[in-house]
Amino acid sequence: MSNRAEKIIQAVQEAGVIGAGGGGFPTHAKLKAQVDTVIANGSECEPLLASEKNLLNQHAESVLEGLALAMEATGAKRGFVALKEHNRDAIQAVQKALSSGDGRIRIHRLENYYPAGDEFLTVYDVTGWVVPEGGLPLDVGVVVCNALTLSQVADAFHGKPVTERPVTVAGSVRKPAVVVAPIGTPYADLLAKAGGARHADDVLIDGGPMMGNLVADPRLGIARTTSGVLALPADHLIVRLKKTSIAQMVKRSKAACCQCFRCSDLCPRHLLGHNLHPHLAMRSLDYGLAEPSGHVTAAFLCSQCGVCELLACDAMLLSPRLVLAEYKKQLIARGIKNPHGRTKLSALAEISYRRIPVSTVLKKTGISEYAVETPFAGYLQAELVRVPLCRHAGAPAVARVKKGEKVKMGKAIAETPAGMLGAVCHASIAGTITAVNEDWIEISAK
Ligand code: SF4
Ligand code: SF4
Repeated sequence: MSNRAEKIIQAVQEAGVIGAGGGGFPTHAKLKAQVDTVIANGSECEPLLASEKNLLNQHAESVLEGLALAMEATGAKRGFVALKEHNRDAIQAVQKALSSGDGRIRIHRLENYYPAGDEFLTVYDVTGWVVPEGGLPLDVGVVVCNALTLSQVADAFHGKPVTERPVTVAGSVRKPAVVVAPIGTPYADLLAKAGGARHADDVLIDGGPMMGNLVADPRLGIARTTSGVLALPADHLIVRLKKTSIAQMVKRSKAACCQCFRCSDLCPRHLLGHNLHPHLAMRSLDYGLAEPSGHVTAAFLCSQCGVCELLACDAMLLSPRLVLAEYKKQLIARGIKNPHGRTKLSALAEISYRRIPVSTVLKKTGISEYAVETPFAGYLQAELVRVPLCRHAGAPAVARVKKGEKVKMGKAIAETPAGMLGAVCHASIAGTITAVNEDWIEISAK
C-alpha cells in the first residue's frame, strides 16, 4: 500500500467516517481492501428519503473527490456513481462535475425499484456480479460506499471530522424537508424544524419506512447513520408491524401462513441466487431450533429489507423478516456460525421482472400521501446534542471526556479500544459536557 493510500485511510479513521446509509460499518476498514471497482451509492434505497439526492444536487464535486480518494486507497481501476434514473437533477449535477474528469468514473442509472441501493443488488446492477452467500462486495472485488460517506471521506482528507449530516424529515409532518443537523441532535428538534408532527401521538422512525427502527425517546440524538426521521400515525400499518413482538408474530404465523411462497418469489436475496426461502423459514417455526435446518440458518443471508412482510405478505400481514431476525439472534446466542457460503452464483432469470416499483411500495405500505417534495431547509443550530457511542458496526466507543469539561467542535470525545473494529466520535457542537454514559455523551452549547 502506498504512503498516500495509508494517509487517506488514517484520515478517514481519525475523522470517524462510517457507512452513512444505515449499516454504520467503519469506512477505514473497507478502504484497506484492494479491489477492482468502487461504487458511490447515491440511490437512496428507501422510499420518502431524499438526503443523498439533495447532497448530490449541492455537492457532487465532494462526492466525486471522495470516490477518487476511495479508488486511490483501494487501487480500484474504475468507479461508478449509482443513481436512480428518475433523479434527473442529481444525474445532471454529477455529469457536470464529471465533465473535467479522466473517464475512470461513470454514472450508472438504476431502475426505480425497492430495494435498489441495497449493497448486493447495487453490485449486481452495476457489474453483473453476485456477492457470495454470507459474503461482502469485496469478495467480488467491489467496495460500495454511500454518496454521503464518500463526501465525508473527502472532508476527512481535508482534516474535517464527521460532525453533521443531512437528514430527511418527512411523513406526517407539516413541512417535510432535508435538514443538515449536528450528530446527536435530538429527534424532537428535527421534528420541530419540519413544522412538528401532524398528530400528537404520531410515532417516530429513525431511517426509512421499510428498514427504519422506532425511536424509543425523541430526546435521544440522531446517529451518523440517521438518513431520515419519519413521523407516522400510531395506527399506521408500518408502525403496527414494527411494534409486533416476536411472540405475537410466531403465534399468528403458525395459524395463518398458507405457504403460498410469495415471500420467497419476491425476496431480493433469493432472486440473487442465495439459498434463502422465507416461506420455508416460516414452515420451520413448527419444528423449533433443536436441529436448525438450512432454512433456519438461512437467517444469516437475510438483509432485513422487509419485502417479504410489507410487500409480499400484504394479505396475511406476516413477517418472515421478523422471524428470520429472531432465528439469527438465537443461532448467534447458541454459538452457531453462518454455514452458508456458496460462491460463483447466478441470479435467477426472474430477477428482472420481479422487481417492485417504488410506486407500488408507496401504495401497498400506505405512504403515498407522504411522497412529496422535501426541499433543503438549511442547517439546524442545536443547543444540546446527545452523541451516540454505539450506533456503528463493531465495538462501542468509550468516552474520553468527563462531565464539566469544555470541548470545541470536532474534538474526539470517544474512541473504540485499540485493536477493535469501531469508530471515533467527535463533539458535534462546541460547549460543555453535561452528561456521560455508556450510550451517549451530552454536550450543551451554553
Ligand atoms: S409468510 Fe405470507 S407470503 Fe410467505 S408463505 Fe406465508 S402467507 Fe405466503
Ligand atoms: S427481509 Fe425478507 S425479503 Fe428481505 S432478504 Fe430477508 S427474507 Fe428476503
